[in-house]
Amino acid sequence: MRIPRIYTAETQLNAGQAVELDKEPSNHLSRVLRLKTGNDVILFNGDGNNYHAEIIEIERNTVSVHVKQVEISNLESPLHIHLYQGVSRGDKMDLTLQKGVELGIKEFTPLLTERCGVKLDAKRWQKKLQHWHKVIQSACEQCGRTTLPQLNPVMNFQEALPHLSQQSFFLHPEAKAHFKTVQTIDTSMPISLWVGPEGGFSEAEIEQVMANNCQPVQLGPRILRTETAALAAVSAMNTLWGDF
Ligand code: SAM
Repeated sequence: MRIPRIYTAETQLNAGQAVELDKEPSNHLSRVLRLKTGNDVILFNGDGNNYHAEIIEIERNTVSVHVKQVEISNLESPLHIHLYQGVSRGDKMDLTLQKGVELGIKEFTPLLTERCGVKLDAKRWQKKLQHWHKVIQSACEQCGRTTLPQLNPVMNFQEALPHLSQQSFFLHPEAKAHFKTVQTIDTSMPISLWVGPEGGFSEAEIEQVMANNCQPVQLGPRILRTETAALAAVSAMNTLWGDF
């Protein structure tokens, strides 16, 4: 059986230490996976290590483990890809985050654009961000990454504009350039990728982006769904310059 990987917010982990896991991972290990004392688990806290551990106690709501061994593990893409994603509805955004983590994205900024269909008050945005953090954590648990990608607070399109640079790819179906023809990019520096929401960027937004320093690119003649576009672009970048 594959050894379960569990994210823990515990910042200090060392070999020989006993760790009491939070309620949620404890329930997952004991009730969903039905693990028992003596079973192995792997913990990670985002510091670049895997912590091989053994379950030593299972109580009602808490599982305790003993850390046996620390293993440095670097599965990071050589590219620092920062996705500015127009916020899409419901589980489309979850899908983009989950698959984006698997494909190696290092930073996410949810972008509020004119055509975003999602309108929430501050409290509900906070809840949404917490939910997206969880999606990122469980994608890391699944794919083996030991470093958590950064999730930035939701940003308005106008606030984000100054972040455009020569290292920014703006996905636009009417752009002339393709990834394979891109010449001016420094892959040792962060690269940003800008993707519109379901309804795309508005004409005014496209004009503003085009007036800035960035590289508009297209992904072929077909209109892709927003989640497909982001993931296809990351795959293309990884194939050209990353670890695919
Ligand atoms: N009718 C909208 C438009 O024309 O922009 C469609 C929006 S599409 C569903 C959502 C986003 O995915 C777009 O804003 C763009 O960033 C990206 N996208 C979709 N297909 C694309 C393509 N063929 N080339 C480049 N970007 C694309």
